[in-house]
Amino acid sequence: MPAAHKKIIIITAPSGAGKTSITHYLLDKYPNLSFSISAATRKPRGKEQDGVDYYFISEAEFRNKIDENAFVEWEIVYEGKYYGTLKTELERIWNQGKTPVLDIDVKGAIHVQQQFAGDCLSIFIEPPSIDELKKRLSGRGSETPESLATRINKASYEISFKDHFNLTIVNDELSKACEEAEKAILQFLGK
Ligand code: ADP
Ligand code: 5GP
Repeated sequence: MPAAHKKIIIITAPSGAGKTSITHYLLDKYPNLSFSISAATRKPRGKEQDGVDYYFISEAEFRNKIDENAFVEWEIVYEGKYYGTLKTELERIWNQGKTPVLDIDVKGAIHVQQQFAGDCLSIFIEPPSIDELKKRLSGRGSETPESLATRINKASYEISFKDHFNLTIVNDELSKACEEAEKAILQFLGK
């Protein structure tokens, strides 16, 4: 049965701030939350799976979908790669009676907020400092020196958008950041 209220939760942050860690905590604990799988034109990394982490599609397919107006929002986030939230993805989750959790960049988050104003909770995850962000990204072992520099260079710009969102959580201690996000979400969903 479709959900009575089509609500949306957005988690946004500079890369490395901890949004994946916080999102996993929330999704593991609350089965009525469902990860919104974005379409992306980058290649899968590590253990990533098509249809689980992303819908990995070609740039030509992505452009077709833009022409068909299939996206709620899309952005070229890094290195010429396209990322977007499909309308069909939100419907798929709402049709299960669940609330989608979108892990998207700040510009995409602002676009979604504009479209779903009253039905949307947006949480910005802020790193304690740029130095700490650099340490976390290096520690994750996912980046080349170039992609690390790209992410760090973009971080201050992304942080300058934080006032556009409903709530900012500084991810200093992960467990506290998770609890803060959890509290805000429970309040938003009226539980
Ligand atoms: P994002 O999804 O925003 O890119 P991740 O959740 O992957 O960020 O976190 C980046 C790295 O920092 C990961 O290795 C993660 O384990 C680590 N991390 C996340 N939160 C904290 C924290 N509060 N303190 C220390 N390390 C953290
Ligand atoms: P990654 O390549 O590390 O998985 O993601 C890079 C960035 O793209 C992250 O900041 C992530 O939040 C963002 N992203 C993922 N999916 C989408 C999407 O559908 N739309 C937008 N605008 N950004 C996305």
